[in-house]
Amino acid sequence: MVTSFGELVRRAAASRGASVAVVDAALRWTWAELDGIVTDLAAALAGRGLRPDDRIAIQAPTSAEFLACYLASLQAGLVVVPVNPSYPVAELGHILDDSGARMLVTSSVAVVADAERLRAHHPALEHIVVAARSGADGLPTVMELRATGRNAERVSRDRTGEDLAVLLYTSGTSGRPKGAMLPVRALLANLAQLGELRPAPVTAADTLFLPLPLFHVFGLNAGLGLGLYFGATMVLSSRFDAAAGLQTMRDEAVTVVIGAPLEFALWAGQPAFADGFAHVRFALSGSAPLPAELVGRYAEAGIPLYEGYGLTEAAPVITLNLVPGAVPERVPGADTAPARVEPKAGSVGRPLPGVEVRLLDQDHEVVEAGDLGLLQVRGDNLFTGYWPDGADGPDPAGWFSTGDLAVADDDGDYYLVGRRSDLVLVNGFNVYPAEVEAVFSKLAGVREVAVLGEPDTGVVAAGEVIVAYVVPEVGASLDPGLLIAEAGNSLARFKLPKRIAVVPELPHTATGKVMKWRLRAAGLSGGG
Ligand code: ATP
Repeated sequence: MVTSFGELVRRAAASRGASVAVVDAALRWTWAELDGIVTDLAAALAGRGLRPDDRIAIQAPTSAEFLACYLASLQAGLVVVPVNPSYPVAELGHILDDSGARMLVTSSVAVVADAERLRAHHPALEHIVVAARSGADGLPTVMELRATGRNAERVSRDRTGEDLAVLLYTSGTSGRPKGAMLPVRALLANLAQLGELRPAPVTAADTLFLPLPLFHVFGLNAGLGLGLYFGATMVLSSRFDAAAGLQTMRDEAVTVVIGAPLEFALWAGQPAFADGFAHVRFALSGSAPLPAELVGRYAEAGIPLYEGYGLTEAAPVITLNLVPGAVPERVPGADTAPARVEPKAGSVGRPLPGVEVRLLDQDHEVVEAGDLGLLQVRGDNLFTGYWPDGADGPDPAGWFSTGDLAVADDDGDYYLVGRRSDLVLVNGFNVYPAEVEAVFSKLAGVREVAVLGEPDTGVVAAGEVIVAYVVPEVGASLDPGLLIAEAGNSLARFKLPKRIAVVPELPHTATGKVMKWRLRAAGLSGGG
């Protein structure tokens, strides 16, 4: 059994040192090079006086430097606190205060420019390092820091077992970020659970394309972690550009793509779509609902597009609709499409081996197949609780309530219905926004839609009313009255929006989730 991330790298370096571990634009590191860089950097971190359990915040785009800092920090015994590179100084400040980080590795120009003030305001923060290839006044780059560890003694303080490895501030589709404490045990358990699928979904012969942010658990563990666990080549991409991404996939002969629904939708609309995916065996989407139409488009092109469901607190994967044993082999360059294995439409599949899932009703009783329940999860992949004291972690029996509502069918396949916190109560009736969104997203001229509840300010206030924020297709003009009339063909009256706001775009998190709390805050001031 693997006990640390350092062990994964050292194992790959020993057995296949000359094969490529990571590709990041023009940069290419073999496993032996990656191992060497990580070892130097770990020594450099220790040389700066960082001690086991100290926190290091990494605010950097998806890059080889991020990977090196992540692994070196764990080897030096540190706790990694990934931070969204687009966070302004104020939001970064909250995380620095909360985590008490002693070092910050940042790519943010604004943060670098504000370095002195930042240090003055956050006394715990002693070191700032620049995550860019060229330096900034007075601050070292990651590679300059690495150089200081070159001839130093090897540091072997690998984080293992229950050691806290990552403090992940959830990206906050529901409000202020809180730090989920993920020990090494949880991160490696989720990878081992994925590894128990037969045949293994990924092997060392694969090349993974990871156009995912690494400050989120999906990119960090289901992306990078997966590559490290199976020893596959990881192709990183710091900025999402649909056309450039397809070119990279083609050039690097990528065999597995892991991304978010928004990215898969953008690729499907590109002229080079099929060409880019020419070597891809399968693609995996996660973090937000994957429209069935999109799965169909990929299936037509011979590309199985699977979907996973998970969350930060589960490191992250809970269910997967990737059919075990059915990932087709695709012969690179061959004209024939692989045997098609289509997952059940709309299902996020079944729990991973070693992960238990149950659905509970309001009385805390397990529901029957076909009935709606609150999804709870149990497994070694679960976090220990929220920073700093481990509050709100799994209950004494090991179950954690996800806050998601779901239904299971007779085969044990799960269907997500939405977050319990998004549920809207209209005149005492429950309305699930996902159901309304599914109807609206199929109407002509609608590109994207988000449905939520807002307080009813009518004469006879009846709790909440349904509001839909609709983004039109390019060139389409939408008539809210007509949209409601059309939706009325498929939805009961009480589920229909009272108000429709036609907006140019919706606010998304970096993994493509709609930030409904932002809409809610903006919505109170009117619109549409
Ligand atoms: P917060 O928990 O603060 O709202 P967050 O949304 O960033 O922040 P994450 O851990 O990133 O937290 O998101 C997990 C949630 O994403 C799940 O609880 C679920 O609601 C949603 N989700 C994940 N995968 C899928 C999927 N395949 N389909 C639909 N929703 C999904």
